[in-house]
Amino acid sequence: MSTALDQALPRPLPQAGGEAPDRVSDFPAIPEGWAYLDTAATAQKPQVVVDAITRAYGETYATVHRGVYQRSADMTVAYEQARKAVARFIGAGSPDEIVFVRGATEAINLVATCWAGTQLKAGDRILLSMLEHHSNIVPWQMIAEARGVAIDVLPLTPDHCIDLDAMERMITPAHKLVALGHVSNVLGSVLDAKRATGIAHAVGAKILIDGCQSVPRITVDVTAIGCDFYVFSGHKLYGPTGIGVLWAKPELLDAMPPYQGGGSMIDRVSFAKTTYAPAPGRFEAGTPHIVGALGLHAAIDYVESIGLGAIHAHETALVTAAREALSGINSVRLYGPADSAGIVSFTIEGVHPHDIGTILDEERVAIRAGHHCAQPLMEALGVEATARASFGVYNGPADVDALVRGIARVTRIFG
Ligand code: PMP
Repeated sequence: MSTALDQALPRPLPQAGGEAPDRVSDFPAIPEGWAYLDTAATAQKPQVVVDAITRAYGETYATVHRGVYQRSADMTVAYEQARKAVARFIGAGSPDEIVFVRGATEAINLVATCWAGTQLKAGDRILLSMLEHHSNIVPWQMIAEARGVAIDVLPLTPDHCIDLDAMERMITPAHKLVALGHVSNVLGSVLDAKRATGIAHAVGAKILIDGCQSVPRITVDVTAIGCDFYVFSGHKLYGPTGIGVLWAKPELLDAMPPYQGGGSMIDRVSFAKTTYAPAPGRFEAGTPHIVGALGLHAAIDYVESIGLGAIHAHETALVTAAREALSGINSVRLYGPADSAGIVSFTIEGVHPHDIGTILDEERVAIRAGHHCAQPLMEALGVEATARASFGVYNGPADVDALVRGIARVTRIFG
């Protein structure tokens, strides 16, 4: 690839303390020469996260909240420190507003069941957008069907962002809940979450923001946004799978009934009457993913040690370089806005995205091809699927080069 392209790309990502990250030792599962461009599906794990998990299972492991022995008390402190780290990371008012769940999917289902399932009634409406991930569509459809609620869908602007002018026109006092993605997992479009929240609140609607693709890429401050619910998954934030976060305003958590019954979520149990623990315990029935929370804490520390400003600038430079190089290839069609956060979706005329993915794999470039769990968006874009390259802290100019070289080979094969 050209020197000009090299020069357009960022220098190695700066770390706190001014040291450039050593990509190989930071990310043991990325071998040299493999361009991992599927971070929007799940991020590779830095060594510090792997170490935190290994240490938790190998040295300090015990249950939380119940043990009377020191090891369990120490583990409880570590688990609760993870909750504090999450609260600080997203600007929550208190760690008590942080509910640990399995991931964004479970968080949205929890809100659909415990908030929408108890607050919405026939005739109410829910407002979503055309670019939502299935996990921010299907739970609402299930609850809407059960309660006689209607769903409306916001269109996209010509550059593939959620159309907030249309939101202003479409929203009515019948809309009780709005649920929107902060960053699209297909297009990388960034929502003006504060403006969307203002529009929702103007008619008295609550708003949930799906932060799966935003927390690894842009600074998130739920207090500044002013939203009501915010959800994300740990595994896209360089943390483990099986751990995620629901943040909600304390008064909403207090008003919501439990999601599941079991141990840990109770105040007192008797066959005559059971009472429940306050939030967040009320929503964390059973033995939690203790080590997952510790791994997530290590991931947050890792991301904060680099800084989300630096990560965003790094990914933006990679996206700009990739879009620039790909737009020079006639048969390539790009989707999403030019200032997409970390994600480039594209199709090649006459080539199925799965074939693009397979040929790129032969070139040691890992991308995602398919509908990306966003079938309504695919329909709106008039395609069955797209190819998607998504970037993370470990990617660099060589990965963009490899992507562009691989796509040149695809066009030669099919040309
Ligand atoms: N929302 C968005 C925007 C996503 O990208 C994803 C994961 N692809 C999800 C929700 C669901 O996350 P999970 O599968 O980790 O629950």
